[in-house]
Amino acid sequence: MGKIIAFSNQKGGVGKTTTCINMSAFLAVKGYKVLIVDLDPQGNASTGLGIEKKDVQISTYGVLIDEAQPEKAIQKSVVENLDVLPSNIDLAGAEIEMVYISDREYCLKKALAKVKDNYDFIMIDCPPSLGLLTINALTAADSVIIPIQSEFFALEGLSQLMNTFKLVIRKLNPKLEIEGVIVTMYDCRSVTAKEINQQILSFFGKKIFTIAIPRNIRLSEAPSYGVPVMMHDKNCAGSKAYEYIANEFLKKQKNIGDKSNG
Ligand code: ATP
Ligand code: MG
Repeated sequence: MGKIIAFSNQKGGVGKTTTCINMSAFLAVKGYKVLIVDLDPQGNASTGLGIEKKDVQISTYGVLIDEAQPEKAIQKSVVENLDVLPSNIDLAGAEIEMVYISDREYCLKKALAKVKDNYDFIMIDCPPSLGLLTINALTAADSVIIPIQSEFFALEGLSQLMNTFKLVIRKLNPKLEIEGVIVTMYDCRSVTAKEINQQILSFFGKKIFTIAIPRNIRLSEAPSYGVPVMMHDKNCAGSKAYEYIANEFLKKQKNIGDKSNG
């Protein structure tokens, strides 16, 4: 049974997709079967893994709204063991259309139940909002990873995010946990970044992954080649950092076997 993890923060451009793609890619090369669910109409996780929008016949939209079989929508990515349920701009209308569906918060959970057994991990790349798409992700998920950009406005909106988690736990998904917080785009030369890190630390304490992802140009270049950073420049600082984070994540998992020997 795959563990479902949502990458969520309603703030835009904080590194949700970059973290989702690169953590997933490292887990996949270690031999874990991973599915990325692109739940953002921008489709960044899909294109970032080499899936062309024009080749998407059935998307997350079809699975959520038309009840298409997820197996028919899922595509292989450029990385072995890493599949993608791709999205495109069609998904932008889904939040409004879902309003008319009964059990609208459970559409994604129901769809993923059909493929859960095929994967070790299902990673959901959420859009930058707290609308119905994100609510669907949090309802389907076992846990949440929150990427936070190390910048002045980082903590703005965090209480709103935490309130949404609490609401979902109370009403829709009592077993939802916070898996961890990942500080992204960290610039160790910046005094402000250090101060912000301190504030994030006092807000989340032990939930924070032990290293921050540095600001690294290779990480921002990789999606334009449709590959995770490990296939663009595996020795760059960004790649090393995500590898470390993927290992740290694995160490915390209780029910997942070691696949390091194949
Ligand atoms: P959105 O809210 O729009 O979905 P997001 O939270 O998914 O955004 P990303 O798309 O992962 O954020 O990152 C935003 C931009 O910053 C992208 O251009 C990405 O390539 C770049 N980026 C992400 N992490 C880093 C990093 N550590 N160093 C440099 N650039 C980065
Ligand atoms: Mg994104």
